[in-house]
Amino acid sequence: MNYKSTRNNNISVKSCEAIAKGLSHEGGLFIPESIPTVSLKNIEYMADMSYTERAKEILGRFLTDFTEEELDNCINSAYTKEKFGTNAIAPVYKLNSEQYILELWHGPTCAFKDMALQILPHLLTTSVKKLGIDREMLILVATSGDTGKAALEGFKNVTGTKIVVFYPDDGVSQIQRLQMCTQEGNNVFVSAVNGNFDDAQNGVKEIFTDNEYEKELDKIKVSLSSANSINWGRLVPQIVYYFSAYCDMVKGDEIKVGDEVNICVPTGNFGNILAAYYAKRMGLPVKKLICASNKNNVLTDFIRTGVYDRNRSFYTTTSPSMDILISSNLERLLYMVSDGDSEAVKGYMTSLKENGTYTVSDEIKAKIEEIFYGGWADEDASSETIFQTNDKFGYVIDTHTSVAVSVHNEYVKETGDTTKTIIASTASPFKFNGAVLSALDSETQIADLDEFRLLEKLADDYELRIPSSLSALEEKEVRFEMVCDKNQMKAVINEFIKN
Ligand SMILES: *Cc1c(COP(=O)(O)O)cnc(C)c1O
Repeated sequence: MNYKSTRNNNISVKSCEAIAKGLSHEGGLFIPESIPTVSLKNIEYMADMSYTERAKEILGRFLTDFTEEELDNCINSAYTKEKFGTNAIAPVYKLNSEQYILELWHGPTCAFKDMALQILPHLLTTSVKKLGIDREMLILVATSGDTGKAALEGFKNVTGTKIVVFYPDDGVSQIQRLQMCTQEGNNVFVSAVNGNFDDAQNGVKEIFTDNEYEKELDKIKVSLSSANSINWGRLVPQIVYYFSAYCDMVKGDEIKVGDEVNICVPTGNFGNILAAYYAKRMGLPVKKLICASNKNNVLTDFIRTGVYDRNRSFYTTTSPSMDILISSNLERLLYMVSDGDSEAVKGYMTSLKENGTYTVSDEIKAKIEEIFYGGWADEDASSETIFQTNDKFGYVIDTHTSVAVSVHNEYVKETGDTTKTIIASTASPFKFNGAVLSALDSETQIADLDEFRLLEKLADDYELRIPSSLSALEEKEVRFEMVCDKNQMKAVINEFIKN
């Protein structure tokens, strides 16, 4: 199986090249040239498998240039009980007869980015080795919080890699800061940057596009790489858990093999829901894909009107990982629903860059509408849903998952479709404890509590267990205290890699 670019059909590379490169040189995203299939018979077999065996089934169909041993190594290094606290890796919780919560947050950082970032470093180093590239990979990340920590956990102690994470000094929560500054591992470095997230991100971008610096690094056999969410190596592991959830439902006698389910995903960059779309195209019996947005509802409008328009206000919400106006992975969907019309995709993306907007053809719009439902939840609806979900079912969800549950509730009201639905739960409620506590009890007094007391309060009041990776933070040794200016970032990197 080879990979094309969404903006140039003549490109054809192996999966190891797609993963090692991340982005095609003309700016397109790598995409498999065909969609492998999984039959109902396959699904029946997979129902009796472990998560890692299921992962092998799915990844093996896409990464055909990897040997069985290579794939095994990647998968077995990533999805362990030690890291995820459960052999199920991504367990399904039955909320009621229609809503099944797919818990994607059992990994080391308590959010769903772990599902991909635990395996990406292994896929990347294996790819580089297969290509015979004799280089150390230096991963640079600018983070507003969650991705940086998940990347650090994924890359720590992975041979052949080093990782440097920059976060805005005045832009992350107390827990996020501690998560990063106490990071363990012999190949990691973390620094705050004076300024906000844009300062950190622009600094990293400048380094990535600095040709002179690239040459300098090349001399010492170092290549820059990012752990960006458009890398195919981040997308493909996400397909696995939709099959796995379906298999778990079969095994638990909730459905029979062949029964259709809906999938509802709280969406930002469109990566997670695109993985669900792949699962459907591969043969997973999925009726509707429900795309849930917060107040930054650019995707809801797109699905309903065919017009993507980022020229709008940006809102900061209690579901910050979905505060996005450009959903990069949507490009892959456009390619797929236009039957690989890379010229059309290129046109849309040029228009987005130049005018901040594009309008898809009626044909594409109709195809998207047939499969996707778009909805959004404002802050009140999201908060109310956290309360109701606990009140009715005794289950506490985080602020991102609540957007999805809220939109699904609306969907059922609007359409009367009571098909059993897998709802992706993307973060542990402990990661957003303040907003979750306020939603659960509007009378609660939390203004004076620091984040660790909030963890304890959430655990005590609602009989939950604090994830050990979060509670342990308060006692952990701080390893990184550096704060640099934007123009010192390169020097910080140099100091680190020369050691
Ligand atoms: C990244 C993230 C999302 C959005 O996922 P996309 O793949 O970008 O659509 C949703 N919830 C949480 C908690 C996240 O970290």
